Amino acid sequence: MEARPKILIIFGYHPKEIFATEVGEELLRTNSNPGIKIVRYTGRPDRRTSTYNLRRFVGYFDPLISPIILHNDDEAGFGAAIVYRVKSQEKIRIARPLLLGFASRYGGLVFCGGFLMHSTNYDLIDIELSSKMGLQKSRCLVNDFAEYLIDLYINKGIRL
Ligand SMILES: [Zn+2]
Repeated sequence: MEARPKILIIFGYHPKEIFATEVGEELLRTNSNPGIKIVRYTGRPDRRTSTYNLRRFVGYFDPLISPIILHNDDEAGFGAAIVYRVKSQEKIRIARPLLLGFASRYGGLVFCGGFLMHSTNYDLIDIELSSKMGLQKSRCLVNDFAEYLIDLYINKGIRL
């Protein structure tokens, strides 16, 4: 049996978001960190705001840290946005300074936020990418963020 990944990065959840898919493929091609597992979404599509099928898909891999789902939005005026979707306000309170700390490395290019989501067994982290940032920069951002989360977990005992 394959070891439980520390972090799971999912691309192709919204197949029409071509840039996010390209970033996912690039990550898959270049990743050398055994703690990071990158997969193309092969579950059923979800309706509207439901994440039922997505969470079932995540459950199959059962990652230690919240999974990252890649999206893209070229209309938005940012390089990337990181959105943490969790069950409790308490988790948002803990995560907020950590996410802002990460975003500060990118000097205003990356925005972060937390949103409450109920009735879930998995918290989710959405990253909205923008093709304006370019493929390699976007790939590095996602990879750095995954490594940041792993570092928080291993060295500081904080599990987002
Ligand atoms: Zn999307």
